[in-house]
Amino acid sequence: MTEAQQGNPDNAPAVIRGCDGCTLCCKVMNVPDMESPAGQWCQSCEVGQGCRIHLSRPEACRSFFCMYTTNRNLGPEWKPSSCKFVIAHEANGTRLSIYPDPDQPEAWRRDPFLKTFHAWAEAGVRHGGQVVIFTGRQVRVVLPDRIVDLGVVAPDELILTAMTRTPTGIRLEPFKAHKDDPRAQALLRQTDRGVT
Ligand code: SF4
Ligand code: SF4
Repeated sequence: MTEAQQGNPDNAPAVIRGCDGCTLCCKVMNVPDMESPAGQWCQSCEVGQGCRIHLSRPEACRSFFCMYTTNRNLGPEWKPSSCKFVIAHEANGTRLSIYPDPDQPEAWRRDPFLKTFHAWAEAGVRHGGQVVIFTGRQVRVVLPDRIVDLGVVAPDELILTAMTRTPTGIRLEPFKAHKDDPRAQALLRQTDRGVT
C-alpha cells in the first residue's frame, strides 16, 4: 500500500524500511472503501511506484505494514515485489497470512520461503500461532511437517487448529468451522489457537 515508512500506529511493529517501488499489497489484498477486490490492482495504484491518492488513501492502507517492512531478519529476497507474495500479521498477531500474487500463485514454494514457513509453523506450536496461505478464499494451513488444504473458507467461518497428543507426539489438525459451531467455541475456550 506504498510508502509504509510514512506512518505507524502506536500498537504496530516498528517500520524499519520503506516500500521502495513495491506496490504488491495494492493488488493482492482486499482494500475496504476502494472497491478493489483481492487479486486486482487498485484503481489508484501506480504500479511499481506508489499510490496516486497517497494523502487521502483509506485508513486500511495507512495502517497496513507488511512483514517485510517491519522485520529486519527478512533479506531482500523477501521483498514482496520480488518474492511475489505479501505477508501480513493478522488475527491480533496470532496469524501470519501469506497473500500470493495471482500471476505467480505458487512462488512461495521456492526456497527459502516454504521451509521458513514450516519453521515459523513449528515455532507457532509453542504460542498458538498459525501460518496460512490465502489464495482468494482458498485457504491452506502450513504446519511444521505438511500443508493442509481447507478449500474455500467463508467469511463467517473460523480457521482453527485442533491439537491432539498421540503416542508419537502432538498431532495438529487444522479445520474450518462456522463461528457458532460448538466445536469451534469449545476449542476457543481450551486454547487460543482458534482465530478468525
Ligand atoms: S507489500 Fe509491503 S513492501 Fe510492498 S507496497 Fe505493500 S507494504 Fe510496501
Ligand atoms: S488506495 Fe492507494 S495505498 Fe490503498 S490500495 Fe489503492 S493504491 Fe494502494
